Amino acid sequence: MTGAMHLVLVIEDDAAIRGVLRALLESEGFRVAEAGGAVRGLLDARAQRPDLLLVDLGLPDGDGVTVIRRLREWSPVPILVLSARTSEPQKLAAFEAGADDYVTKPFSPPELLARVRAALRRGAQGSQSGHEIALGDTRIDVSRRHARNAAGEIHLTPLEYRVLECLNRQAGLIVTQRQLLKEVWGPNHLEDSRGLRVCIKNLRSKLEPQPQRPVYIVTEPGLGYRLRLNE
Ligand code: CA
Repeated sequence: MTGAMHLVLVIEDDAAIRGVLRALLESEGFRVAEAGGAVRGLLDARAQRPDLLLVDLGLPDGDGVTVIRRLREWSPVPILVLSARTSEPQKLAAFEAGADDYVTKPFSPPELLARVRAALRRGAQGSQSGHEIALGDTRIDVSRRHARNAAGEIHLTPLEYRVLECLNRQAGLIVTQRQLLKEVWGPNHLEDSRGLRVCIKNLRSKLEPQPQRPVYIVTEPGLGYRLRLNE
């Protein structure tokens, strides 16, 4: 009953994939609604008010990215993209449109469920997250600007705290490079990816057990970063 009867709307034209998703999600206690196309999906999202959407990017009667953009005009509902491995630019467009995360087809069931739960947590927390972050034995209190591990206090700069805060707001999910630049550096610095890279590098050197092989602040190539918290 981990799903606590959350309703998941699957917008996907491939009936076989919808069936697999339904079986998987129902086995975890979720309720599932299915739509085979973009138009139907948008109508169902309005009528059924799902707690989360899984949206395929390639739909017969429209583009998944457009579906996401239309949804975001009125709903903050968590949206996960179902994408083929080959559609990197499309994936990025989906994030710009407001997707929260993606699952690559063919997907691994545990990974899909983990992403679904992370997205639902984000939905439930809204903007009131941001107390303590736990990364291994490191504890970071972003509101009090305080970080420590077993070895003692860790000094983080205000900029580093703000990047962490932004990643933590969507913990477990992807935060795009553009989103980080916009929120931390401001809308006039969307091209300043070097500053972001340096900041991430510094955060890793302070917080990761092996900064060269990060396990907490991970890179999503071509998209952005993901904060992995303790399970
Ligand atoms: Ca498709």
